[in-house]
Amino acid sequence: MLDTLLTSIDQLLAVQASGGPKRGKDMAVLPVVENGAIGIKDGKIAFVGTTEEVKGLDAKEIIDCKGKIVTPGLVDPHTHLVFGGSREHEMALKQQGVSYLEILAQGGGILSTVNATKNTSEEELFRKGWFHLNRSLRLGVTTMEAKSGYGLDRETELKQLRVAKRLNEAHDIDLVSTFLGAHAVPAEYKDMPEKFLESMLDVLPQIKEEGLAEFVDIFCETGVFTVEQSRRFLERAKDLGFNVKIHADEIVPLGGTEMACEIGAITADHLVGVSEEGIKMLAASETIAVLLPGTTFYLGKDSYAPARSIIEAGGTVALSTDFNPGSSPTENLQFIMNLAALRLKMKPEEIWNAVTVNAAYAIGRGSEAGAIETGRWADLVLWDAPNYQYLPYHYGVNHVNTVWKKGKKAEGRKPAYA
Ligand SMILES: [Zn+2]
Repeated sequence: MLDTLLTSIDQLLAVQASGGPKRGKDMAVLPVVENGAIGIKDGKIAFVGTTEEVKGLDAKEIIDCKGKIVTPGLVDPHTHLVFGGSREHEMALKQQGVSYLEILAQGGGILSTVNATKNTSEEELFRKGWFHLNRSLRLGVTTMEAKSGYGLDRETELKQLRVAKRLNEAHDIDLVSTFLGAHAVPAEYKDMPEKFLESMLDVLPQIKEEGLAEFVDIFCETGVFTVEQSRRFLERAKDLGFNVKIHADEIVPLGGTEMACEIGAITADHLVGVSEEGIKMLAASETIAVLLPGTTFYLGKDSYAPARSIIEAGGTVALSTDFNPGSSPTENLQFIMNLAALRLKMKPEEIWNAVTVNAAYAIGRGSEAGAIETGRWADLVLWDAPNYQYLPYHYGVNHVNTVWKKGKKAEGRKPAYA
């Protein structure tokens, strides 16, 4: 007997992940089962097929999903989840047209979050992280990446990573940790970025020993770290057994994307200013482009990452919130899907692949998350939507009806059959 049986699903998005992430033209391929059914047993997916095929099967709970769709739990592959404070006071500066880099140069921006994070206890950071995770879960996210990077010193970076580890153990959402100690140059190292990077590399053996992060990331940008500094830093991290990611070409085209492809980074993230050469190299490499249109929107820019060119060249695109207190204060990956449609001109099929299968591969979880397959954990979302095109279209609200994490109802607004 099954624990739960979902039947009469208008569209079941059985996003297949076995063949690796979807790239280029394949991103527009989205397997859909009409009048679908899913059986859950012991937290795992026991059956995927049509409602016809499950006639006669018994379950403790049977949910009629008529008029709705079911997809894999969403995966958010780039967030700065653990931080102290918030930055609503910067809104007035933004309204006066003061740029992100100018605010940073004045010791504001990220550096104010660094101070707040240093001055916030581990317990309080945990409580705050828990709050944001609940919100993400209610919005349909079941797996997420979390970066450190608001400490910029050994002690605070480790504190952030330990909070993420505890959150992963305690919360329904699965968290994957990334060490982003190289997020900015702290004031005390103002003219010595190399020395600062050395101090961050020194933390890596302890991170490895305590199992605190799988990935190492760096903010490669004008006024932060150069491409060459980033390359040396990430190569050292690779030598120490970490997979690497990079914040690249977010504001100006520096060549961070090309470097990421050369060194075999798992992802290159942002890419608003990526060059033609960078796009070609993405298409020819395994590096996944993680695009963050929420950040571009929130920074009030008109020019978005060239998703269409990357996809048409044959690259692999994932989408993420970039949830952080400065340039993208939102947990809402559904809104990012709207922006992907409106601003990145991505097709609905591409968008769904970018927040499920490709996002899972972007954080090394391709074989566990982002797809509905027999034998996998039942991480599922039932949406109040008649078809999959509906979400990228109907913007600004939460379409989630019910989320299951490992077969357990994680959060629901109302029963599916109401
Ligand atoms: Zn980021």
